[in-house]
Order: sequence, then C-alpha cells, then structure tokens
Amino acid sequence: EEAPPGGPRAAAVTRFPAYAGLGSTLAHPREQVLAALDELGRLPQTRLVSRSRLYRSAPLGHEAQPDFVNAVARIDTGLQPPLLLAELQAIEQRHGRERPFPDAPRTLDLDLLLYGDEVIASTSLTVPHPRMHERAFVLRPLAEICPAASVPGRGTAAQLLKACPAQDVE
Ligand code: AMP
Repeated sequence: EEAPPGGPRAAAVTRFPAYAGLGSTLAHPREQVLAALDELGRLPQTRLVSRSRLYRSAPLGHEAQPDFVNAVARIDTGLQPPLLLAELQAIEQRHGRERPFPDAPRTLDLDLLLYGDEVIASTSLTVPHPRMHERAFVLRPLAEICPAASVPGRGTAAQLLKACPAQDVE
C-alpha cells in the first residue's frame, strides 16, 4: 500500500475547520490584528488556511473609544475547542489585554466563531459565538473568505450578512 501524501502518519491527523474573529481598538490595532493572524498560524496542530482583509468598524457599546479593526481567519486545527479557546486567550494575554470594565477598549479580542458544525454550550464556551449572527463586523469578513460558511441553526454567512442591520463597517 502506498503511503498517503505527507508521509505515513499524515492520514491519522484529523483537523477541523474553525473560524476565529479578531478585533482590536488600541495600540496600533492594525499591527495587533496582523500579528495575531500570524500567531494563529503558529498554534500547535494548526494551519492558517485563509484570512480576510482588515475592516474598520465603529465601536458598539462603550462609544467613547476609537474605531475597531476587525478580521476573520479560517484555520484547520487538531486542537479540541476548549484547548483552542485557551490558546486564543493566551494570544490575547500576550497582547496585554486588560479589562478594567465591561466593553472597555481592548488591545486584542479573539473569539472562536465556528468549529466545524459543532454546537457547544458549556460555561466557558459557546459555539457558534452567540452574537456573531448579528454583527456586521464579523459577518462581512467571514462572508468575504467563505460566504457559504454555515452558522448552525441560523444560516450561511452570506444570508446572515444580508439580514444584518446596517453597521458602519468598511
Ligand atoms: P469577551 O470579553 O467578550 O471576549 O468574553 C470572554 C469570555 O467569553 C471568556 O471567559 C470565554 O470563556 C467566554 N466565551 C464563551 N464563548 C466564547 C467564544 N465562542 N469565543 C471566545 N470566548 C468565549
């Protein structure tokens, strides 16, 4: 029998398609997001498959803060969801995130948006991300890289974007 491409062990590695949302509003937000995209691609058992362009969006909630820079990344990962979330939080920590009050400006925010077609509702992790379907700053970059990405129970990225209230995202 022939070895599979990538060597005999490659066939044993199961990887799941996942989407991460990135946002930053402080301390050179563009650079924060670009650096975080690189870091996603360097996570163990993980490959960065594609990334959206960078989007600028007006902040929701606490309004006296600068605009956000947002992006979405598609990764293929062998990390299970809780471990992936822990890795995303470790990247946030390395970017010096502090949360003095709810919705305070943040250096870098990373959300696990989708993990295959899994639906997860644990105390620390909700997938699909509970607010992604109503956020243009998530749906626009997601629809850019994968309009057919399915948000379980809700529809595709492209459908949800159409239904999403207009927001200032460019
Ligand atoms: P936030 O400050 O909005 O980034 O929320 C961070 C908290 O949300 C963390 O304590 C996570 O455990 C929790 N959380 C639940 N679901 C998710 C998700 N899909 N992606 C990122 N954080 C999540």
